[in-house]
Amino acid sequence: MNQPVVYWFRRDLRLCDNTALIKAIETDRPIICLYIYDDNLDSSWKIGSSSKWWLNHSLKALSLSLKKIGAKLILRQGNTIRVLEDVIKESNATALYFSRLYEPDQIEIENLINEKLACKIDIRRYKSYLLFEPENIRTGNNEPYKVFTPFYKACLRELSVSKPLPAPTNILAYKKRIISDRLKDWHLCPERPDWATGFNDYWIPGEAGAHQNLDDFIQHSASKYENLRNRPDVTGTSRLSPHLHFGEISPRQIWTAISHSKKDTSKGGECYLREIIWREFSYHLLFHWPSFPDSPFRSEFSKFPWKQNKKALIAWQKGKTGYPIVDAGMRELWATGWMHNRVRMIVASFLIKHLLIKWQQGEAWFWDTLVDANLASNSASWQWVAGCGADASPYFRIFNPILQGEKFDPQGDYVRQWVPELKHLPVKFIHTPWQAPQEILNEANISLGEDYPEPIIDHKFARDRALSAYKKIRNKR
Ligand code: FAD
Repeated sequence: MNQPVVYWFRRDLRLCDNTALIKAIETDRPIICLYIYDDNLDSSWKIGSSSKWWLNHSLKALSLSLKKIGAKLILRQGNTIRVLEDVIKESNATALYFSRLYEPDQIEIENLINEKLACKIDIRRYKSYLLFEPENIRTGNNEPYKVFTPFYKACLRELSVSKPLPAPTNILAYKKRIISDRLKDWHLCPERPDWATGFNDYWIPGEAGAHQNLDDFIQHSASKYENLRNRPDVTGTSRLSPHLHFGEISPRQIWTAISHSKKDTSKGGECYLREIIWREFSYHLLFHWPSFPDSPFRSEFSKFPWKQNKKALIAWQKGKTGYPIVDAGMRELWATGWMHNRVRMIVASFLIKHLLIKWQQGEAWFWDTLVDANLASNSASWQWVAGCGADASPYFRIFNPILQGEKFDPQGDYVRQWVPELKHLPVKFIHTPWQAPQEILNEANISLGEDYPEPIIDHKFARDRALSAYKKIRNKR
């Protein structure tokens, strides 16, 4: 029997440590490597603009890697089930192999595959995206976890990370012609205007870029991660999030590389691996509570007196709030498709608590602009900052954007990089330009209100207002 196997690439855009792909190759049957771009998903969370840019480049990289080992990446746009049915029919394939995903729309697709195709072909699904299957980590009462620390401890107890698999060196390709779309016809990259040109300076989408970031991190930052991970002014984190999101590297590869590194990563490495478990925790929450991206986990927050304030929302999106650390973060996001985690927390807190704008509006903006936009981590993190999540930071913890700036960007280098109009301000006023005497502003060439905005809201006023808004729902519990 030499009928082909369809290998359906999803968010596992890599050759190394790809269990499902290796299993497909081990059948010794010709493989059809397929990627489906399904933008008709019945979901309010269709792929965002920056993620499309990444996907385009990641598919190019994957296609090249496959070519080197004798295979072609077939691209098809359309409804996933229909495309799978078509390709199976056109090729007489008798098996479908893929890696498991956990978002509600992806679970629905997997269920449909079982319903519609399992009677016709052999279907094989493998774990690849996470270290732990969300249904396997349970409390003593056999329930899913809602709190991170016990979840983390349970993961460590269950942990047995096997060796990552090597990349295949050869694929027995399906020789008959199979129609493929042209990637450029999917128009995944912005054209007029091309706002993503700057992304090229920061990222190399694809497996090679992922490994470069991992190697650099282990070489230069892992041992200091615990101390530097909160500093946006230095390169102290791994920047692996978009690579992980698109499955260009597996968490198993990262875990193994950090744990077995010859560099002394003991303390920093441990702290880093905890962050990898935060990713697992986000998926655990999304899997067990699929409404997480849309509704507050703590239901009293659905009565929160949010404000509609389009002008303030736009000022936040454009990095023109008058708070330098907030503006630096929002501009870093726009320019690179990424933002440092500490600054994500600061800007999210500012939107939710200073401006009283619904966390879902910030979540949606991040969804569209982040190259690592990820339904599980994005929703869990926004709910965490808003105080309405499972194991959230309490609502009354309101970040002070001035103190946060002074603590985590002490010389103002991060602000100077992303808010260049402030670059000549002395350190003393870099996080509070409105407090600078006029002669200092003159020397720094800044006219407040013209070159850079006055704060759109007073911090103390905003803090008091947020706390009294919170009291309204707290009393209703
Ligand atoms: P590192 O510090 O090097 O961490 C390594 C990996 O651990 C990351 O790549 C990521 O996969 C995981 N990780 C780290 N922190 C977290 C966290 N708090 N929650 C879940 N996983 C984590 N991360 C996303 O991947 N996609 C998102 O859409 C996303 N949205 C966020 C929104 C807000 C409001 C906040 C506060 C955080 C969000 N995060 C998101 C989490 C975190 O900011 C990023 O994962 C991190 O900044 C990525 O940079 P890095 O790879 O250098 O992280």
